[in-house]
Amino acid sequence: MSTSPKSIVLLGGGAREHAMAWKLTRDGATVHVLPGNGGIPNSHPDISATDFPAIQSFCRQHGVQLIVVGPEAPLAAGVVDYFAGSDIRVFGPGRAGAILESSKVWSKDFMRRHGVATALSWQYRSDKLADARAKATELNGQVVVKYDGLAAGKGVYVCSSVAEAQAALDDLQAEHTGWFSFLLEEKLTGPEISIIGVTDGNRIRLLAPSQDHKQLLAGDQGPNTGGMGAYCPVPFADDNVLAAIRTDIIDPTLRGLQNEQFDFRGFLYFGIMLTPQGPKLLEYNVRLGDPEAEVLLPAMESSLLELIEATLDGRLSQTVVRQRPGQYVGVVLASGGYPAAGFPTGFPITGLDQLHPSILAFHGATREQNGQLVTSGGRVLVLVGHAPELEDAVAHVYREAEKVTFQDAYLRTDIGQRPEPMGIFSEVR
Ligand code: AMP
Repeated sequence: MSTSPKSIVLLGGGAREHAMAWKLTRDGATVHVLPGNGGIPNSHPDISATDFPAIQSFCRQHGVQLIVVGPEAPLAAGVVDYFAGSDIRVFGPGRAGAILESSKVWSKDFMRRHGVATALSWQYRSDKLADARAKATELNGQVVVKYDGLAAGKGVYVCSSVAEAQAALDDLQAEHTGWFSFLLEEKLTGPEISIIGVTDGNRIRLLAPSQDHKQLLAGDQGPNTGGMGAYCPVPFADDNVLAAIRTDIIDPTLRGLQNEQFDFRGFLYFGIMLTPQGPKLLEYNVRLGDPEAEVLLPAMESSLLELIEATLDGRLSQTVVRQRPGQYVGVVLASGGYPAAGFPTGFPITGLDQLHPSILAFHGATREQNGQLVTSGGRVLVLVGHAPELEDAVAHVYREAEKVTFQDAYLRTDIGQRPEPMGIFSEVR
């Protein structure tokens, strides 16, 4: 355990950052959240997470020597590089390492160079759309089109027919002006799993396996969102599955980071599909997932603060991460109309004070207005419940969610209730 009281700046302002602030506070830190939001204690809405000079003077004023980063934007904008050489340490990769997430073309090449199991893919520039159209037709439209760049979850088109693939390519062309790159990938099938760890570039300490629910509607239907809920651990991520993920994905990634001499100290997220041919990596993120963080951090018994400090001090090899027993389920309460643009906000939120004490309520998009908490964005709250068994954790969190109300509130009704494909791909191993 850390013995000295620590002041930390945490960058970001969603429910993930609320969960991170909650956990780091329990670990003994004083956490200032920039910009935070109306429901996160100690938020500073006037300071943006990418305004590095303002963050620096805030740190100086408050004696802060450690910055922890929630979202990808400050990392991709070079927050680690900005503070390099100063007495303020930042937990996360520099701009060079953030490219693992910010460029899909680059990360696909990295996977290929280092033998990380992933989908076959073809890379194109925007002046070669005709070639991509021909390839998509040759593959019967069973392709995934991925824009090369940060697109807030909107740059990926999963297609099931030639018409859909052509429409995706039309859309890509309409959305982006000027020169750009993109990938066509073979379309894989199977359940998805998120494996998130803390790495110093040589070793990794994994948190529990978790699963996100990206689509808006029950049964994985409707448009993609930032995530409508998550749970952990994932029952079908048994030893067999985790061992295959280690050998086929995690170990080659760490070897790649070492060989290419990345100075990577931060969270590393592997978005994985468990296909009949074994696990395949869909993407890296260089941060905690949202809403995965909201279940992973309550499930984590060990100190996150100690894990972060050990990583920065080069002591990761001496740490272990212990998990609490039981299952954790997080359900997002969203504004009606999300994720389309232009939905109304500013509706009063009631019932949070009625929640069972074992329920955690992380604020994603709330603010105070005349002494009243109101909605201020799409993913308003994440409620997290736990119980020894998954079905009880699910029942508990949904029962409690009924108490929280605001106009047009929407939640997915099937978080943590996907059929469990136990013994997945055991036939190929
Ligand atoms: P990504 O941002 O690359 O993780 O893609 C976002 C989502 O698109 C993933 O979570 C998957 O649901 C889906 N996806 C990405 N790549 C593939 C693929 N090769 N085959 C099938 N689905 C995919």
